[in-house]
Amino acid sequence: MARVRGNLPPVPALSEVLAALDVLWPPERAEGWDAVGTVCGDPDAEVRRVLFAVDPVQEIADEAVQLGADLLVTHHPLYLRGTTTVAASTFKGRVVHSLIKHDIALHVAHTNADTADPGVSDALAGALDLRILRPLVPDASDPAGRRGLGRICELPHPMRLSELAGYAAARLPATAQGIRAAGDPDREIRTLAVSGGSGDSLFDDVRAAGVDAFLTADLRHHPASEATQHSPLALLDAAHWATEWPWCEQAAAQLDAVSDRHGWGLRTHVSRTVTDPWTAHAASAPLTSPPDNSHTTGAPR
Ligand SMILES: [Zn+2]
Repeated sequence: MARVRGNLPPVPALSEVLAALDVLWPPERAEGWDAVGTVCGDPDAEVRRVLFAVDPVQEIADEAVQLGADLLVTHHPLYLRGTTTVAASTFKGRVVHSLIKHDIALHVAHTNADTADPGVSDALAGALDLRILRPLVPDASDPAGRRGLGRICELPHPMRLSELAGYAAARLPATAQGIRAAGDPDREIRTLAVSGGSGDSLFDDVRAAGVDAFLTADLRHHPASEATQHSPLALLDAAHWATEWPWCEQAAAQLDAVSDRHGWGLRTHVSRTVTDPWTAHAASAPLTSPPDNSHTTGAPR
C-alpha cells in the first residue's frame, strides 16, 4: 500500500506502480516470443521518480542513476532470449548491476505497448500530427476495434512524397539516418499507414489497406523492392529508435495521469539521449543514373 506521511503525498510502492503499468500495457497481450515485465526491482521499494526510454543500454542506466530515478521503464527488453549470467563483465549484466546498486527497478513494455490503445503507433502518428482512422492489423480480441498493430491515418493535408519525407524528418527526433523514401518522389500522398519499429512484415496488410504510403523502420532491400513493384505504394523508412521514441512521452503522460488520480506525486522524465546505433550519415552525390565514366580517362578525342 502507498505510505501516507502527514500532509505529504503518499509514496507508492514499486508493486503499486507496476500494477498501474500492467493496466496500461497488459503483459498477457505481448507476443509469445517477447520478454516483457519487470527485469529487476524490489516490489516493496518506494517510487518517486520514473524515467522512460526506448533502449535499456548503459547510457540510459547511467542517466537513471544521475537523475535519482527509482524506476526505469523501457520499450525494448534487456534480455529477450534468457540468460545464465548477469555478471558485470557482460554489457547487459553491467546495466543490471548499475541499476540494482542504485535501487532502480527496470520494467519493459514492448509488444504489449505496440498493440495498446493508445500504443506505440498512436504516439508516432501523434508526432506526425496525423488523423488516426483505425489499426492497421486490428486485435481480434478487441470488440471496439481500437487495439492492434500499426495505424492507418490521413495526413493533415496532401503532400508529395518528397515533401512528406522532409515533414517526417522535421517532426521525428533527429537521427543520422533521417528519412529515406521509396517510390515516385512527386506522388501525392493523402493516406499513410504507420508502424513504430520494424514494419516490413506488414506489407500485405498495408497493401490490403489501400493507403498511399507506409512509414516504418528497418526496411530491407528485397521486401521494399517487392512492395514497390507490386503496387504504387510509397515507403518511408525512419530510424527504428525515432519511430518509437514518441511513445516514451505518451507513456510518461499516461503514468502522470495515474499518479494524479492516486495523488502519488510521481516525477516522470523522458530520456532525450539518442540511442539509435547509427551515428553518422553521408549523402551521396545528387541522385542520377550511375556516372558514365567512359570519357573521364585518356586524351581528349
Ligand atoms: Zn522497437
